[in-house]
Amino acid sequence: KSGFITIIGRPNVGKSTLLNTVVGQKIAGVSDKAQTTRNKITFIYTESDFQAVFLDTPGIQDPKNKLGDYMLKTSKDTLSEVDVITYMVDTSKSPGRVDKNILKMLTALNHKTPVILLINKIDTIVKEELLALIENYSAMDLFDEIIPISALENDGVAHYLDTLKTYL
Ligand code: GDP
Ligand code: MG
Repeated sequence: KSGFITIIGRPNVGKSTLLNTVVGQKIAGVSDKAQTTRNKITFIYTESDFQAVFLDTPGIQDPKNKLGDYMLKTSKDTLSEVDVITYMVDTSKSPGRVDKNILKMLTALNHKTPVILLINKIDTIVKEELLALIENYSAMDLFDEIIPISALENDGVAHYLDTLKTYL
């Protein structure tokens, strides 16, 4: 199994930390900033029966970008080229403009590509708060999976990778 995965989310939610944690677990090859047509390979994760190519999708996460019609279309096209979208949020309650843009795009994408929502930094909240967050995100009806993780403490990361496999 193999496929293309993108991790999107506003700055500081923990995207780089997650990639570092995954790299720390097992890594066969790293392709630094190789260019594909639209996307940038950030790294390749390989197990004996599974390979995931993680991509950066430019334009989507620019906080200055107000996401006009043209950008929305381009971002949508980019996101429909990957096999799985991973959207990362953290446990803070108020989403920023980047989150609003991403949610708008995912809505426009209309379930064309599977979306895994990662709720990161669960080491910072209590269970009741996490359950409330999960409930809020479920109600949006945009996500195929909602996985709570702590990228920092390597909690839930293996489950995320196992879940990825089921979509490839
Ligand atoms: P990025 O901008 O999305 O790539 O975010 P980073 O990976 O750079 O992380 C931003 C900050 O959040 C750093 O200080 C990380 O140490 C911290 N962070 C990332 N993951 C976790 C986590 O699971 N728990 C906690 N408590 N902090 C985290
Ligand atoms: Mg980063």
